[in-house]
Amino acid sequence: MYDMLNKDGIELVRICCARCNVLFYITKDHYDKLVATNKSFYCPNGHSNYYDVKTPKEKIAEVRKEATRYKEYYSNQLDTTNRLRKEISTKKGQITKLKNKIKAINQ
Ligand SMILES: [Zn+2]
Repeated sequence: MYDMLNKDGIELVRICCARCNVLFYITKDHYDKLVATNKSFYCPNGHSNYYDVKTPKEKIAEVRKEATRYKEYYSNQLDTTNRLRKEISTKKGQITKLKNKIKAINQ
């Protein structure tokens, strides 16, 4: 939400810089364009700002995409873990065989 001011018939929107918190006003038309286009604009102190406005559908899609990415990542991690467990098991078997050979030689 935003605070509006009507000055001499001109609708103004109060903006607060995301970085330095300076307050300033821009016209409602300009504000609407900034929100619609996500274009950057500058506060009076020169800090770049922009509006990252997303619809609920866009936000849900983003979260789903991120969830899928994490699911793939953990699935790959699980595959790697299972592969390494098999390698460890194989190596343990090889070590046991070598120990038994050594025992047989020493007897
Ligand atoms: Zn600023």
